[in-house]
Amino acid sequence: MSRYWSEVVHSLTPYVPGEQPKLPDLVKLNTNENPYGPSPLALAAIQAELDTLRLYPDPNADRLKAAIAECHGIAPANVFVGNGSDEVLAHVFLALLRHDLPTLFPDITYSFYPVYCGLYDIAYETVPLADDFSIRPEDYRRPNGGIIFANPNAPTGRLLLLPQIETILAANPDSVVVVDEAYIDFGGDSAVPLVARYPNLLVVQTLSKSRSLAGLRIGFAIGHVDLIQALVRVKDSFNSYPLDRLAIAGGAAAMADRDHFERTRRAVIVSRAWLSGELADLGFEVLPSAANFIFARHPERDAGELAKALRERSIIVRHFRQPRIEQYLRITVGSDGQCQALVAALRRLLAP
Ligand code: PMP
Repeated sequence: MSRYWSEVVHSLTPYVPGEQPKLPDLVKLNTNENPYGPSPLALAAIQAELDTLRLYPDPNADRLKAAIAECHGIAPANVFVGNGSDEVLAHVFLALLRHDLPTLFPDITYSFYPVYCGLYDIAYETVPLADDFSIRPEDYRRPNGGIIFANPNAPTGRLLLLPQIETILAANPDSVVVVDEAYIDFGGDSAVPLVARYPNLLVVQTLSKSRSLAGLRIGFAIGHVDLIQALVRVKDSFNSYPLDRLAIAGGAAAMADRDHFERTRRAVIVSRAWLSGELADLGFEVLPSAANFIFARHPERDAGELAKALRERSIIVRHFRQPRIEQYLRITVGSDGQCQALVAALRRLLAP
């Protein structure tokens, strides 16, 4: 390869996803999947859809948009859908976050944001989190630009309350403010009701976590029709069939099944409280989490070594080699059995 092309290739910094190892019997607590499985109604809808696979899907995924709109009490025209919220976010960066001024996001947040900026040549500035890892709303001021943050934030799990989000919105009426709510259903109030009052707000959610459909790849954005139209224009320039028939059918049924959603998200919240308590008993400092994962550090043990030792016992958790958080582990709240296996393994590892 010529030097020029070699430089082009190496200038692209890819996202490094959480590991998806192909080993059997793993206690997999590294990528925040839901231990409970999707709604049985979603599985039945996918099964029924198998008979129609010879037909193209609806390029507008109207059935899914209607189910999302119904669930959130808004109009389908305020909904955009994509192949996982990662794809929705890709469209958001390209369509809405390219401004003359750099886009703002926290210094510790979803690591895909700087990757999209690199890919699309979007300048950005990071805003340091407070010492307790919370986002300080007053630090976000960007006239005529873009702001994005995850709420609850990842990988910290810390939550901003709606009045704090309103502080950011009110201070930035001429900027697009994107709230990535991948984990909001595990303990926070969604900013979706604010969309009616703030035309500059875009909320992004996913069916991968609280609806347990990570494998089906469905994400969506809710916002003013002008923002949604901008996303549609970008989408139409790439691929006019973003979601397949199984995703449209299964996603719509999953959004409509409130009972399964409520039951499983409550079960995760109960397990999170139990696991947080056990980790604290083992000497971990545990950050308050509003997500389906826990961010914790042990003051006397190296996090990288702990992650490695757990791995040798077939338990995988996430360890980020990033300044300020390299002594933390991010642990997905798994099934009761998985959480118990983790606690038992840690108890042995930490025994004097
Ligand atoms: N946002 C955040 C903050 C995430 O942690 C993730 C999951 N890695 C996503 C978005 C993307 O999720 P998905 O593409 O599965 O919808």
